[in-house]
Amino acid sequence: MNNFKEIYDYMMEYDQFILAGHISPDGDCIGATFALALALRKLGKEASIYLESFLPMYHYLDGHEMVMTELPSLGHEVVPIFLDSSDEGRLGLASEYLNQGIRTVNIDHHASNNFYADFNYVEKDASSTCEIIYNFIEFMGVICDGAISKAIFTGLVYDTGVFRHPNTKSSTLSIASKLLEHEIHASDIINGLFYTKSYPATQLLGQALEGISLHFNERIAISGLSLMDIEAKNGTVEDVDGIVQYIGQVDTVEGAVFLYEKEPGVIKVSLRSKKSLDVAKLALGFGGGGHIRAAGCTIKGTVDQAKEEIIKALEGFRSDF
Ligand code: 5GP
Ligand code: MN
Repeated sequence: MNNFKEIYDYMMEYDQFILAGHISPDGDCIGATFALALALRKLGKEASIYLESFLPMYHYLDGHEMVMTELPSLGHEVVPIFLDSSDEGRLGLASEYLNQGIRTVNIDHHASNNFYADFNYVEKDASSTCEIIYNFIEFMGVICDGAISKAIFTGLVYDTGVFRHPNTKSSTLSIASKLLEHEIHASDIINGLFYTKSYPATQLLGQALEGISLHFNERIAISGLSLMDIEAKNGTVEDVDGIVQYIGQVDTVEGAVFLYEKEPGVIKVSLRSKKSLDVAKLALGFGGGGHIRAAGCTIKGTVDQAKEEIIKALEGFRSDF
């Protein structure tokens, strides 16, 4: 693995950067790309951001004009930096930047990161990629301003479930405390990310909760939505983001599984656990990955078929829950 200094020294040889997050970009990868891009601009560099999508719920971030949702071809002497992405598959179209001659940088906090770039910095105990980026920005000597603070705070809040998950450390809250010295409207950010849903999203949450089935002595809760379910409520696949956290609230449950049909015949699986089940290991068995307590994968077939496959795989983890 590389250290901050090696990555910083390499980056300072160049003037232009493209920062990319993972497919289905979430609050941590979006916050990290914004924060690092804004910091690089403060150093007089040119930085742009590639995201597969940029949902309106993130439009409060400063610096929209840096975002491209169509993959730009990599210009001459532009350094690609991948954030919050554990492997090549997570990069989506941006993975083509890996083979263009210029050395790439990977900064992440997933234990399953496979060091796919030329420079790799992976801190698996960091709450979020944004926590790492905060430290990296400080290392670069850039003074954190309101815009950078908003972006970092977004990732901290997103990946810790508003400082609720066990990845929340003293360091996470110290950083959050420093960010709040700027006027970032923290309460609005939290409400927007976690407590605001469209009408279809609210109805789909209700349907998913009603559809929960319990397995293995009520230790595992599973629910799923097909594309037909989603469309019947005039929703889109974006509307089901975050449902998994509600599936796990059943008191007897150690593991929560939420499945939805992302496109016809392609099922996205979100996995969460509370104390003992390693869901990253479970996801890896299906070619996915993530963290011990939050992971995901994709399975081909129908929602019901994917559910059966997950239940079968869980039998192999029976001693863990
Ligand atoms: P979510 O269930 O919220 O989509 O993802 C939970 C965690 O697992 C996140 O850290 C996410 O990056 C990771 N994750 C989700 N799906 C996949 C996947 O298909 N492959 C890998 N490697 N990680 C995933
Ligand atoms: Mn993350």
